[in-house]
Amino acid sequence: METLRHRDSELYDAICREAERQKTKLELIASENFTSDAVLEAAGTVLTNKYAEGYPGARYYGGCEHVDVVENLARDRACALFEAEHSNVQPHSGSQANMAVYLTLLKPGDTILGMDLAHGGHLTHGAAVNISGKLYNVVSYGVDRETELIDYDNVAALAREHRPRLIIAGASAYPRQIDFARFRQIADEVGAFFVTDMAHIAGLVATGEHPSPVPHAHFTTTTTHKTLRGPRGGLVLIGKDAENTIGAVAAKSGRVKRWSELLDSAVMPGIQGGPLMHVIAAKAVAFYEALQPGFALYQRQVILNAQALAKYLTEGGLRLVSGGTDNHLLLVDLSSWEVSGKEAEQMLDRANITCNKNGIPFDTRSPLVTSGIRLGTPALTTRGMKEDDMAFVAQAILDVLRSKGTESTIKTVADRVDAFCSDFPLHV
Ligand code: PLP
Repeated sequence: METLRHRDSELYDAICREAERQKTKLELIASENFTSDAVLEAAGTVLTNKYAEGYPGARYYGGCEHVDVVENLARDRACALFEAEHSNVQPHSGSQANMAVYLTLLKPGDTILGMDLAHGGHLTHGAAVNISGKLYNVVSYGVDRETELIDYDNVAALAREHRPRLIIAGASAYPRQIDFARFRQIADEVGAFFVTDMAHIAGLVATGEHPSPVPHAHFTTTTTHKTLRGPRGGLVLIGKDAENTIGAVAAKSGRVKRWSELLDSAVMPGIQGGPLMHVIAAKAVAFYEALQPGFALYQRQVILNAQALAKYLTEGGLRLVSGGTDNHLLLVDLSSWEVSGKEAEQMLDRANITCNKNGIPFDTRSPLVTSGIRLGTPALTTRGMKEDDMAFVAQAILDVLRSKGTESTIKTVADRVDAFCSDFPLHV
């Protein structure tokens, strides 16, 4: 970054400080990860200069012969990775991917059934503050108060009562496996489309550590960062069965369109203009990496680490929502520890441990305060940490929470974490 250093030292310094933060702190934000150098390189290329509205072979701009190759590589690799019939790699983010699917399938005022944000769902699944909550009539499902697992009977009852046009599965803070076949069964019973947003678990799905939604859902959306370990971005997939079901809309010519065509035009020109070709190149690299055998070992380790962390934290007296985890994340209930999620996030940060406050199901505190924290293992696993290392991580967290923020303890833990992180070098 020598040129940047000379051109804009203020910005350069901020980037260097962020790189240093990533190296010296324990990264436990469940939705974050460290990409490979190859992904970073692709994202920083001259492809950022190119306008390429449209799709490979059918662009609105000249000079697209090379970016066509890039986008086709990304599309083909995404299909190979998730055994999908069609992929659209252009959404700028996971939220854009969801909006594109909504635009494909819904009209304003239609009813959607999605997981409540307060129970672990995502903003774009119908939260009142999000465009999905403003355009559509939203009905929300949640988890059972006792088991803290998705209450599928309640999903079915709500579907029968409200007859949604679309049911969406997927979550940002749900530590257990999701039964996609059951969701599809419910959707079929009421004649709804079934969409899965697998943003958090896409890496696990890619390697079979979590059952795939692609054969069950009409459309599957995801982010390409998080467990998938690519650049920030979005992706939409259509499975073979869904694509081979004829699209609902007849074109003016009388020709019936396929779902892939409807989706592609919902992405562009529906909600986006030019694709970010440098990011699409980085997605192609990430999909290539995810297709290599080492990625399966990595995803297995992500889960082993999450389960080890769960065990050590539970032994230390913390309660985990649903009692543990099947995936890459844990939701810690702090309500009996006299510390809010917000306070915990802040004191852990002072001890070089990064995580986020998170509401727990039936939380009595506001989303800005919360009674929980969410912890994930994808980033620590990328650094090379294993189950035994989770004992250190859990102890550091427990020491900080027990100290209630006492300066001397925070300082001791911060020094311990700093030394520990240097044993797991990060090339950023
Ligand atoms: N869907 C789920 C389940 C998510 O957890 C997230 C992000 O956290 C998104 C969608 C949105 O992704 P983005 O931040 O790229 O818009």
